[in-house]
Amino acid sequence: MGCSTILVFLTLLSFASAHRKLLLFLLDGFRFDYIDDAELESLPGFRDIIGMGVKVDYMTPDFPSLSYPNYYTLMTGRHCEVHQMIGNYMWDPKTNVSFDIGVNKESLLPLWWNGSEPLWVTMTKEKKNVFMYYWPGCEVEILGVRPSYCREYFSVPTDQNFADAISDALEALRNGSAEMAAVYYERIDVEGHHYGPWSEQRKSALKELDKAMSNMITQIKNKGLQHDVNVLLFSDHGMTDISWTDKVIELKNYINMSDTIQMKDRGPVVSLWPVPEKHTEIYQKLKAVEHMNVYNIQDIPERFFYKKGKFVSPLTLVAEEGWFIVESRDKLPFWENGTGKREAWQNGWHGYDNELMEMRGIFLAYGPACPDTRWGQCHPPACPG
Ligand SMILES: [Zn+2]
Repeated sequence: MGCSTILVFLTLLSFASAHRKLLLFLLDGFRFDYIDDAELESLPGFRDIIGMGVKVDYMTPDFPSLSYPNYYTLMTGRHCEVHQMIGNYMWDPKTNVSFDIGVNKESLLPLWWNGSEPLWVTMTKEKKNVFMYYWPGCEVEILGVRPSYCREYFSVPTDQNFADAISDALEALRNGSAEMAAVYYERIDVEGHHYGPWSEQRKSALKELDKAMSNMITQIKNKGLQHDVNVLLFSDHGMTDISWTDKVIELKNYINMSDTIQMKDRGPVVSLWPVPEKHTEIYQKLKAVEHMNVYNIQDIPERFFYKKGKFVSPLTLVAEEGWFIVESRDKLPFWENGTGKREAWQNGWHGYDNELMEMRGIFLAYGPACPDTRWGQCHPPACPG
C-alpha cells in the first residue's frame, strides 16, 4: 500500500484542512482498469469526477485481497495483522465463535472489530456526526461507539437503494445533520463474480453506477454544495477470471478432512486448523499440491503484513491466480441465477496475492480541493514500480 497510502493520506490531509464535509464511496470489487482511458470514453459521470478531481493509477489492496480485510484497512489505515480483520471468514478457537462474512450474529461481536479504530469512530468521538448507508459493519458497536446513523447492509442493495442513499447523504450534509457520509455499493462486485470482470453484465452495472455519479454531481450543484463537499471514491480490491472447469483444487483428494478441526473460506485463501498431532503430516501432503502454496504461520511472507494477526490459522493456503481451493466440488459456492437452477457457476473471484495487477482497485477524489482542472492536470505522479 506504500505509495497509495501516502496519496490517500495527503489527499485526506489537504481536504481536512479545508474543513469541508466529506462524502465517501466504497465501490466493492471495482478493478482499476474498469476506468482506464478507453473505458472512460463511455462513462461521462466518471469523466466529470476526474475532470474536477484526482485519479490514482491504481490502489494495491492489503492481503488477502478480500472485502472485509480491505474495508477495514481503508477505514483504519492499518494492515490486517494490526486491525485483526484478516478474512471474510474467521474463527476464534479460544471462544469458538465465527465471523462468517458479516451475515451471522457473531460477526457483530466487537472482538472482530476492536483491533483498530475506523475513521467513523474517530469522527464520532470528535463529536462529528457520521451517516452511513449500507456500509458493512456500521451497525456494530466498535470501541464503544456507533455512528450517528446507520442504514444497515443487506444482500444486495439495488441501484434505486443506492440512488436514494446518495440523495439522503447529500441532504444530511447540506442541512448540517452530518459532517461525513459514507455509502457502500456492491453490484460491480456481484456481477464481476457471477459473470467475470469483462462481462457485459459487469459493464452494464458500471454504466448504471456512472449515471448515479452524474446525478450526484447535479445534486451537489443544485444544493449549492460544490464548495463545501469533497468526495472520495475507492474500492476494496479488483477481480480476475476463474474457471471451475479446470482450475479447482479439491482438498479431500490430498488430505483426510477428519484430521482437521476447522476450515474457513474457500477460493484463493483458505484457513486450516489441523488436529495438532496431524499438523506436520497435513502440511507435507498439502506442500505437494500444485497451483497453491501452504504456509505455516512463521513462513507467511512478510510483505503480506498478515501473519501477526491473532486470528491467523496454523496453516494458510494461497492459490495461484485463477485457481480455486475447496474441500470438494460439491461445496463450490454456486449461486442462484434466477432460473430456479442452483448450479450457476462463478466466473470471477479475488483474494489472491495482493500484488497481482488484477487485484488492484481504484481511488478517486472529487471536489473543490482540486478546482478548475481538466483531465490530467491534477493527476498525481504515478507510483514508482
Ligand atoms: Zn469486496
